[in-house]
Amino acid sequence: MSLNAFVMSHELPIRLGFFFGIFAVMALWEFLAPRRRLSVSKSMRWGNNLGLVFLNSFVLRLLFPAAAVGMAAFAAHQGWGTFNYYALPTWLAVSSAVIVLDFFIWLQHLMVHAVPVLWRLHRVHHADLDIDVTTGARFHTLEIILSMLIKFAVIVLLGPPLVAVVIFEVLLNATAMFNHSNVSLPKGLDRVLRWIVVTPDMHRVHHSVEDDETNSNFGFNLPWWDRLFGTYRAQPRAGHDDMIIGINTFRDTGHCTWLWGILALPFIGRITEYAINTRRWDNDNKESNHEAD
Ligand SMILES: [Zn+2]
Ligand SMILES: [Zn+2]
Repeated sequence: MSLNAFVMSHELPIRLGFFFGIFAVMALWEFLAPRRRLSVSKSMRWGNNLGLVFLNSFVLRLLFPAAAVGMAAFAAHQGWGTFNYYALPTWLAVSSAVIVLDFFIWLQHLMVHAVPVLWRLHRVHHADLDIDVTTGARFHTLEIILSMLIKFAVIVLLGPPLVAVVIFEVLLNATAMFNHSNVSLPKGLDRVLRWIVVTPDMHRVHHSVEDDETNSNFGFNLPWWDRLFGTYRAQPRAGHDDMIIGINTFRDTGHCTWLWGILALPFIGRITEYAINTRRWDNDNKESNHEAD
């Protein structure tokens, strides 16, 4: 049986096996050697975060039963997309498709931070008052649907091998759980590892309340895009123990922890100066403009 046929016929057990396996390892690691002291009760956060994950899986199955792999099969059947046009060796097609898909996820993540209406949705991921393995899968249902539609579009353009789509999704799921975990690696290991994968210390910077720190380290899987495009930040200013996690303007469990509060979060409150087109000129600029008048 070819690798392709094996992966396709065992897709669900492969996905679930990796999900539960890595979830269990990271949850146990966090329990035995937590990196930071949690500010909200773990059982309350887990109940609500996992409730949202369950709701999202249900909605996705309902809306898109064939999911991303189905779209890749459709694109292959139609002969659509770059990879269906060129006959590359399998290993090259699969590895480059995984890397290109990861780039698009990075770009999407950058854009949901930059565009005000999309930041409303993505705030749900950032409003978590602590960061741990469950934060890795905590996204608003509308952002999950939007992500899937963007993934469909990228797949139609790329025409990636089916097995690349499964590998990519399993890898992203696994690395997201790993790098959101409340754990720490030995400093030397972290330094080496973050050249090939986003580590917990690297992604934690992205969950800081400080705007400039949140606007860095957008990678979920491969760390290269942030280094390449200048959005890499090695450590938080306040240090990992003292940095504040979340969003400055939402600090209560009603908005940040309880499931109905999380689901309502995109629809309440003003967007502050955080997203791109709500930024103002700083006062120095305004003054110098006046003087020029
Ligand atoms: Zn983000
Ligand atoms: Zn995150």
